[in-house]
This record gives sequence, structure tokens and C-alpha cells, in this order.
Amino acid sequence: MKYISTRGNYPAVDSAEAINLGMVPEGGLFVPDAVPQIRFDDLVDASYHDTALRVLSPLLPDFTSQELRLCVNRAYTPQSFDTPSIISLVGLKPGVSVMELWHGPTAAFKDVALQIMPHFLAIAKMKLGDTHHTVILVATSGDTGKAALEGFSDCEDLSIIVFYPDDGVSEIQKLQMVTTEGMNTHVAAVKGNFDDCQNGVKDLFADTKLAERLAGEGITLSSANSINWGRLCPQIVYYIHAYAMLVAHKTIRPGAPVNFCVPTGNFGNILAAYYAKRMGLPVRRLLCASNKNKVLYDFFTTGTYDCKRRFYRTISPSMDILISSNLERFLFEITGQDAGKIRAWFGDLAAKGSFTVDAATKKTMDSLICPGWVDEAMIVQTIGETYKRHGYVIDTHTAVAVALEETAGDDGTHTIIDATASPYKFSRDVVRGIDGTAINDEFRSIERLHELTGLPIHRAVKDLRQKPVRHRRSIAVGDMRAAVLSIIKEIKAGGY
Ligand SMILES: *Cc1c(COP(=O)(O)O)cnc(C)c1O
Repeated sequence: MKYISTRGNYPAVDSAEAINLGMVPEGGLFVPDAVPQIRFDDLVDASYHDTALRVLSPLLPDFTSQELRLCVNRAYTPQSFDTPSIISLVGLKPGVSVMELWHGPTAAFKDVALQIMPHFLAIAKMKLGDTHHTVILVATSGDTGKAALEGFSDCEDLSIIVFYPDDGVSEIQKLQMVTTEGMNTHVAAVKGNFDDCQNGVKDLFADTKLAERLAGEGITLSSANSINWGRLCPQIVYYIHAYAMLVAHKTIRPGAPVNFCVPTGNFGNILAAYYAKRMGLPVRRLLCASNKNKVLYDFFTTGTYDCKRRFYRTISPSMDILISSNLERFLFEITGQDAGKIRAWFGDLAAKGSFTVDAATKKTMDSLICPGWVDEAMIVQTIGETYKRHGYVIDTHTAVAVALEETAGDDGTHTIIDATASPYKFSRDVVRGIDGTAINDEFRSIERLHELTGLPIHRAVKDLRQKPVRHRRSIAVGDMRAAVLSIIKEIKAGGY
């Protein structure tokens, strides 16, 4: 199996090269040329690690099983995840379970992928004989940044630069990033929104002159965003593991269909659920939950993707995105890998800020995706009601999905809701939902949430207040390129 470009503009490559490159140099994303099928029936009592090997082996066929075993064992340890099953399944009510994906070091689901991805990258470089110093560029809406810094901190022959929107992340998210240790970590606040950060990073990757110049200096740029397949494929694992856990608990019978309900931003997490379905997992509907930035809801209901609209800063900041990168992979797959269509649509998006899919594609989308969106008041209300009714605490992102599940209507299928962040990452609004009080101090609200609910405080936020700030760089949107060049100068001066 090889990896091909969604825009048909690059030769087919092995997975090691797809991971090392991050995205297609001329624009476009790497996808498998054919989605492998796997066996599920014997995974019912498998550990997370064994499930991961089963899922990842056919997706990364140029990695040996020893190499993959090494990656899995190094990533998913008791030091990095506070539950041996890595993810946790909680019954919310009859017919609905919550899949907690926030048991990793930074309290967001992104840890599940970003704890393993650095190991993939190290092995990929070895296989390719790539002795360059890798500079990972990350655009973050808050959670990816810290998870990537944590995953890549002190990795050999590698530096990481994270760009976050200055006013677009929560105070806890910002503190998590700017207090990061590690000699090879760099963080910059950008005076703009997430889309500005993501576009800036994409432009840097698309700059072939820059790549050539850096190659001459022994440096390669790569990406830890979900545009990198190495970031996306580990997410397929938990959908399959959650299904196996439900069968093991006898909540569903083997082979029964399930729905997944996913709070969505860049469309990476829900795309992993789609690939799980393509690998043979019996998935009926994918519920795509958006916040007030409902560009995906409008797309799935009308067939027109239009990002010329107002951008809202919400209390679920990791979903404040108008350009959902991984939609490109989804559309490529559901059009039967039609690179011509993708080139036309994403050309329109770049040129006019919108595109419209054809009727056949719209019909396929309708059969797979159930879209919905939730406003700010509804998020707060859902947090309160979920706690009152079920004694269960959810964060502001998970609440978007819980609200959609409640309004989408019961189709008789067991539904699994992705819990993407620990409530302690967004405790101010969680407290507001639960007891109606507004506490301005983030640390006071963390204590208050603990007093109210007894939920153990996540280790990722516990000692944050005491940590010294180590990163103070702040730049304009137009200065991302200059910032990268100046950081590379620093890295070289430090003797990489
Ligand atoms: C990143 C993130 C999301 C959105 O996930 P995508 O893969 O970008 O769709 C949702 N919730 C939280 C807490 C996140 O960190």
C-alpha cells in the first residue's frame, strides 16, 4: 500500500515518506491508495497496545512489526496515560456511551496521537536515511500545541515551533504552552486567529524555494497537525478499541452497528472514525458536531462550503476553525478518489473562499454524516444538565457533541460520544454550567470544580500556576516566516 496525494500532484510514496513530509509539497494531503480491511472478531479482549498494532500494521506497511511494537510501547505507558486502557468508556444513559480521550499528559485527545507520532517520525527518518534536523511547524487552536510540545520535547535531531492565536486560546491552554520545558521547544503567539496560523504554516510548507534553501543547511520542515498522516492514523485505533470494549462489556453484540458523535474543528478526529468504518468497523452514522463557527454544518446541509463569514471566538476554542483541512481527505475518498474534483474545489476555496460539490457527492455525504451545531448558551446549559441528570462532568467541547446527540434523534443504534478534553482544561465555563457562578480566576475555578464534583484534578493543570513562563515571543500574522527563520538561526547557533 502506498500514499497518494488528494490532488494527484505527487508520486505515490511509502508511509515513512508521507509522515516525514507532513503534507504534499505542492499542496494536497497524503491518503492511502486503498484502505486495508482488518479482522475485529478477536480484538474483544485485546489490550489497547495489541489493537493499535492490528490497526497500524496494514496502514504503515513499510514499518516492521518490531518497529511498530516499539512505537506503541514507548507511547502508551503508565507515565503518560493515567489509565491502562489509554481511553476510558463511561455509560452516560441507555444507548449512549462517552469515550474519554483525555487521559494523556496534556488533558486533550490529541495526546493519543502526539505521544506516538514522534516515534513514527524518528523511525521514518532512519528508514529514509534522512540525517537532516527536522523542524516541526505547528498551528494550534490550543490543544495540539501543548500536546505536540509534550510529545516532541527533547527528541533528538528535531525542534518544534508552535504558533497559537494570541487571543484565541484559553488561559490554561496558553499557560500550558508558554511554560513548556525542553531545549528544542519554541512557541510564538500570533496576533490573529487559528486560520491565520494554519494558513501561515501551510504557506511555509508550500514554499519550495524555502525548502530548497533549508535543505542546503541540513534542515527539513515537517508538520504535527492532523494534515500529517502520522498524526491521523493513531486516532483510528481508539474507535476500534472502544467498539471492542463495548462488545466485551456486552453493551452491544458483536457486529452490531454504532454511531460516533464527534465535536469537530479541523475534521481530523471524525475523519479517523470514517477510516475506521472503511477498515470494516460497523459504523452507521457519524454525527458531526460544530459550535457557532458552523461552516461544516452549513456545508453538510447545503453542499456549499463557504468560509467568507464572521469568525467567532467561543468557549470551545479548539473548534474555532473556518477551514477544516481534513475535509479534503474525506471528499477525496467519497468521490472515489477523484483528484480532479478536489483540485477544482480547493482551487475555488483558495480563489473565492467557497466551493460547491456535485449532487452525487452531496448524496453520499448525506448518507454518512449527520451534522449539527450548538450555540454558546446551549453549551453551558448542556454541561449543567448532564451533571444534574447523570452526575457526569463534561468540558465545553464534549458538550457540543452531547447536545447534538440529544437533538439528533434515536435511530436505535448505540452512540459513542467523543470526550475530547478534561473538564479541568476549561473549568471556568464548566463551573458556570454546573452552579451558575462566574469565577474569573482560572485556578480558583479549578478548585471550585473539584469542590463541586469531586472529580480528581487532572495532573496537566495541577502545578501550572507555579511553573515559570519560558516563551514570550509574540508576532504579527505576516511575520511567521521571519520568526521561523530567526528561530532556525538560534537552533543552528545552539549547534544542532
Ligand atoms: C482539537 C480539538 C477538537 C477538534 O478536533 P478536530 O480533529 O480538529 O476536528 C475538539 N475538541 C478538543 C478539546 C480539541 O482539542
